[in-house]
Amino acid sequence: MSATLATVSYIGATILFILSLGGLSNPESSRRGNLYGIIGMTIAVLATVFGPNVTAAGIPWIIGAMLVGGSIGIYASRVVKMTQMPELVALMHSLVGLAAMLVGFANYIDPAATGEFKGAEKTIHELEIYLGILIGAITFSGSVIAFGKLSGKISGKPMLLPARHWLNLAGLLVVIWFGWRFINTHSVADGMTPLVVMTVIALLFGIHMVMAIGGADMPVVISMLNSYSGWAAAATGFMLSNDLLIVTGALVGSSGAILSYIMCRAMNRHFLAVIAGGFGTEGGAPTAPGGAPPAGEVVAVTAAETAELLRESKNVIIVPGYGMAVAQAQHAVYEITRHLREKGVTVRFGIHPVAGRMPGHMNVLLAEARVPYDIVLEMDELNEDFPQTDVAIVIGANDIVNPSAQDDPASPIAGMPVLEVWKARTSIVMKRSMASGYAGVDNPLFYKDNNRMLFGDAKKMLDEILVALKA
Ligand code: NDP
Repeated sequence: MSATLATVSYIGATILFILSLGGLSNPESSRRGNLYGIIGMTIAVLATVFGPNVTAAGIPWIIGAMLVGGSIGIYASRVVKMTQMPELVALMHSLVGLAAMLVGFANYIDPAATGEFKGAEKTIHELEIYLGILIGAITFSGSVIAFGKLSGKISGKPMLLPARHWLNLAGLLVVIWFGWRFINTHSVADGMTPLVVMTVIALLFGIHMVMAIGGADMPVVISMLNSYSGWAAAATGFMLSNDLLIVTGALVGSSGAILSYIMCRAMNRHFLAVIAGGFGTEGGAPTAPGGAPPAGEVVAVTAAETAELLRESKNVIIVPGYGMAVAQAQHAVYEITRHLREKGVTVRFGIHPVAGRMPGHMNVLLAEARVPYDIVLEMDELNEDFPQTDVAIVIGANDIVNPSAQDDPASPIAGMPVLEVWKARTSIVMKRSMASGYAGVDNPLFYKDNNRMLFGDAKKMLDEILVALKA
């Protein structure tokens, strides 16, 4: 393929990637957006493999690597459960970081790549390598820790080293010092020491940064690592002088940064405060930060009683959370929604921006179950409607409906906007036990007078409700 054709293909792929991101911003156009992305990526890969920078001898290697990588990808996509998607995404971000690191070292060692630059060009090329490896190493180790935290292999509790900010500052100064030394060396052998020292510090920094972040702030970390992986890809593009990789990396990097901002706003946090770490506590068991656990009694209901309450309602709001994903209850939810709508009940879904374990988690599940998009609303769009709502059903959600975010300044989730389900005439929480959610915070909602608990697996309970509704 000629260089001109490769460039034209790259421009075509870039346009498709931009259309893809535009499409993904709305549920209705997201399938089309995905398709644009797939076509763009196919063009990009073909134009690169058969482009002017790959020799015929390299093609079997590339095809072999693609076969191995593609097989692992197909296998992973078949066995990974929907609830494991966030971990998989974190693992994939780590691979982008690892690739940037490896390309950086290969680029530095390769005499064909380094030998041709002189003077200012040489300095710029070495800066690209230094920064590329730095961002790649932070992305790699940070994402591996994020994978550990999301999969429960590492505790969600923030690890707060004494003088951690000073440690980070010292690390930064050492990295700058070695960077200066690196660009002033004259041989690959001399430059290797500063490069390796910086890589080790960057790896440790990535680990430290994510370890210090508590469970409640993980959404911001995921979107931030998404952004880093984009910048790591852009840095790889600079090192390989590949314009498409630079543009694509910048697109991912900046959209990840916007997502981080949205997540921060959703949690009412300042970005820098999240990076500094320390929010959130251990997930899983009930804890009572800042005081005694909420007192009172919980009132349990059965599926039949829930069906009765629903039958008498005119307005229902459903709030799904992580438990709906675990139980794979989205289809059962939709069946109930359809049944109620046929009976003239107004049913809407309230989606919290950090519900589940990845951005857009609930929207994906509801779209899969073919819930109409126009009844799936953002938190801000229906939070004021709860006082006029007869029944609010919470399906496997916990932190996102926790009133202590508003009432208890000592709570780890204090200040986070939540769906105010307790303002409905009756709220029903479906979950298996009294255990806390991801942020590890007790939930006073369960003890409110107008709240009822429907204990059990969400899918099983919803099936029972549907049977009772149809009876
Ligand atoms: P939570 O983690 O707060 O609560 C989920 C609840 O689901 C649990 O309390 C659990 O209770 C219940 N549950 C689990 N399995 C089932 C089941 N099979 N059937 C019924 N219930 C079940 O989830 P939310 O969605 O409310 O909040 C999301 C949390 O995750 C926030 O803290 C957010 O910060 C964090 N997070 C979000 C990310 C994102 O990008 N969206 C990323 C990382 C973290 P029980 O065990 O009693 O059943």
